Amino acid sequence: MSFKIPPSTLPLSAVKDLPKHIGRRRHLVDQLREKGITDQRVLDAIGRVPRHLFIDSSFEDFAYQDTAFPIAAEQTISQPYTVAFQSQCLNVEPGEKVLEIGTGSGYQTAVLCELGAKVFSIERQHELFLFAKRMLNQLNYSYTGKYGDGYQGMPTYAPFDKIIVTAGAREIPAALLRQLSVDGIMVIPVGVGTQKMLLIKKDKDNDYSVKKLGDFRFVPMLEEKAGE
Ligand code: SAH
Repeated sequence: MSFKIPPSTLPLSAVKDLPKHIGRRRHLVDQLREKGITDQRVLDAIGRVPRHLFIDSSFEDFAYQDTAFPIAAEQTISQPYTVAFQSQCLNVEPGEKVLEIGTGSGYQTAVLCELGAKVFSIERQHELFLFAKRMLNQLNYSYTGKYGDGYQGMPTYAPFDKIIVTAGAREIPAALLRQLSVDGIMVIPVGVGTQKMLLIKKDKDNDYSVKKLGDFRFVPMLEEKAGE
């Protein structure tokens, strides 16, 4: 299956956030609260990000349902509940450096920006890297994006206060553990097929505590960047 992404010359006037979108977003926020998301900062951030602009326009009417959708390059935009859950686990404070692995549509990136994070994000699919960059720029979200392999992290900008992985990893990438600051937190789904969400805290160098937070399903985290 292939899905179109908006043309690179999308004019600013096409970036529309209408009252109907705002209303649907409010409803989504209520649903997330009912499903157990308690961090008001996260709920407010979700309430501000126009998710319908991060997906194919043919899905626009469903953008505020709590489901994942296909995006380009056979990937998916995460379910809003998952975005909210991972964001809540990270407990982002304004100004913190957050590394995201798997930019995808850029939706989670926007939520992290809304939380006041200084965001660094890596995507291995060139098409998605470009799409997210364009949309996030148009919406005035500033972040540092990289087209590359998330298994390597971004050593130049390390250490990071928080790391979020939005693809299912076979194991915890060692480079990411190294790039986490002491007292830093990483939230990462680990496993093949179904993943366990792990919340990892770096207590000291080479000393980590790990909590398991339930089952999720993500697209796999693959090695090396895909062809351009
Ligand atoms: N946060 C995104 C989730 C996209 S799905 C969103 O809400 O839209 C996960 C993304 O991880 C996909 O875009 C996939 O291409 C990317 N990915 C998979 N393996 C990767 C890797 N090794 N490095 C960087 N990105 C990766």
